[in-house]
Amino acid sequence: MVAKGDMVYAWSTDAEILKKGELGGAVTSLQKFALESGTVDAVLAVKKGQDLYDAVPTLITDPAKLVDTAGSLHCGTLLLARPIKKYLSGNDRKIGVTVKGCDMMALLELERRGSINLDNFVTIGLNCGGSVSAVNARKMIADKFGVNPDDVHKEEIDKGQFIIEYGDEHKGISIDELEEEGYGRRSNCRRCKYKIPRNADLACGNWGVIGPKAGKATFIEVCSDKGADLLNKAVAAGVLQTEAPIEKGIEIRGKVENAMLKLGEKWRRNDFKALGKDLWGTIQNETSRCIKCYSCIENCPVCFTVADELRGDSRMIASGEVPPNPMFHLRRFAHISDTCINCGQCEELCPMDIPLALFSHAIRAEGDMAFEPKLGEASYNNK
Ligand code: FAD
Ligand code: SF4
Ligand code: SF4
Ligand code: SF4
Repeated sequence: MVAKGDMVYAWSTDAEILKKGELGGAVTSLQKFALESGTVDAVLAVKKGQDLYDAVPTLITDPAKLVDTAGSLHCGTLLLARPIKKYLSGNDRKIGVTVKGCDMMALLELERRGSINLDNFVTIGLNCGGSVSAVNARKMIADKFGVNPDDVHKEEIDKGQFIIEYGDEHKGISIDELEEEGYGRRSNCRRCKYKIPRNADLACGNWGVIGPKAGKATFIEVCSDKGADLLNKAVAAGVLQTEAPIEKGIEIRGKVENAMLKLGEKWRRNDFKALGKDLWGTIQNETSRCIKCYSCIENCPVCFTVADELRGDSRMIASGEVPPNPMFHLRRFAHISDTCINCGQCEELCPMDIPLALFSHAIRAEGDMAFEPKLGEASYNNK
C-alpha cells in the first residue's frame, strides 16, 4: 500500500500496453483501470494523429481504446485546458486526464476562475523536460540528422539527447548542441520549471529508474490521497506491479530535477536579456505584425475574461484595423500579467511568429519579482 509522498517503480501487467507504453505503460494502465472501475466516466489523453508530429487530444469512454494513447509524443505541444473548459466543464462527469506540468498549472488556473471543479478530475502527471514544435522538429531532423522526417517511426528525449529511430537505425544528438543552433525544445519549455508535476494526483516519469527496471518501469511519485487510492486499487486489481525504487535512483532523480531547474533559470536570464533595454518598445515593434486573428486569446488558458472586450467594436479596440491598436496587446498582457503560466500556446499558434509567450512570461516574472521575490530568480530587470 502506498500513501501520499511515497515513490514506486510501476509497470503494466497488460502485454500490449507494456509494449506500446513509453516505459512501463503505468500511466495507460492506471487510466484504463480508472475507467473500468468507474472511478472516472471518461479519460482525456493524447494519441498519435497523422504521424508522430501530430498529437491529438482524445476523449475515451471505451477502456479497450486506451492502448491507442500509450507512448510519449515529444512534438505534442498541445495544452488540454481549453478543450476541458470548452467541452468538459459545467457537469459532474468524472474525468481522468494525463497532464504535463503546464496542463496542470492551467487546470489550477481554470479552477481558480470557477470554470472547473478539480474534485471531478483525476490528474496523472508526466514529468516533462520539454516539447519540440512539430514544424521545428521536422526541420531539425532534415537539417541536423540528415534524415527524412517522414521516415522516423519513433522519437524520444533521453539522457540529454533527442533521439530518432528510422528503419533499423537510430541517431541521437545532444539537446544542448541542437539548442545552441536554434533547434530543440520550444523557448517557453527551456524556461519552464514545472518539471515534476507534484500538484497532480500522481507524477510519472523515467528519471530515477535504474538497475534491472531501467527503461521498463515508470517512476511514480504519489502526490495526493486520491492518487494513492487509485494506485493501491490498480495494484490490488492486478493491472499494475510495483516495487520500491532503488535509493540511488531517487537521488539521481533529485539531481536531474535540480539540473533542469537551473537550466530553466539560465534560459530565463538569457531570453529576458535578449529582450533589450526597452521591453515596451520591443513588444510594440514585434506586435506590429499582428493580423488580429485572435488565436493567442482563443488558446490561452488564462486569458478568456477579456476576450469579448477585445473583439469587434469594443470600447478598447476598433474593428477593421490591422495591425490593431497597441492597446489590443497591452490590455491582454496587463490582464494576464499575474497568471501567465508560460505554457507557450499563444506563441506556438501565432501565425505571425510573434514571441508572445516570452513577453507575457517576462511581464509575469517581473510581477513575481516585485511582489513575491524569490532569492536568485530571474526577471526582466534582474537577469
Ligand atoms: P504511457 O503508458 O506510455 O502513457 C503515456 C501518456 O502520455 C498517455 O496518457 C498519453 O496520452 C500521454 N501523452 C503522450 N504525449 C503527450 C503530450 N505531448 N502531452 C500530454 N500527454 C501526452 N519523463 C521524465 O522523467 N523526464 C522527462 O524529461 C520527460 N519529458 C517528457 C516530455 C514530454 C513531452 C512527454 C509527453 C513526457 C515526458 N516524460 C518525461 C514522461 C515520460 O516520457 C513518460 O510519459 C512517463 O514516464 C510515463 O510512462 P508510461 O510508460 O507509464 O506512459
Ligand atoms: Fe513541458 Fe513545461 Fe514545456 Fe509544458 S511548458 S511542455 S511542462 S516543459
Ligand atoms: Fe495577433 Fe498573433 Fe495574437 Fe493572431 S495570434 S491576434 S496574429 S498576436
Ligand atoms: Fe500560455 Fe501565452 Fe496564455 Fe501565458 S499568455 S498562459 S504563455 S497562452
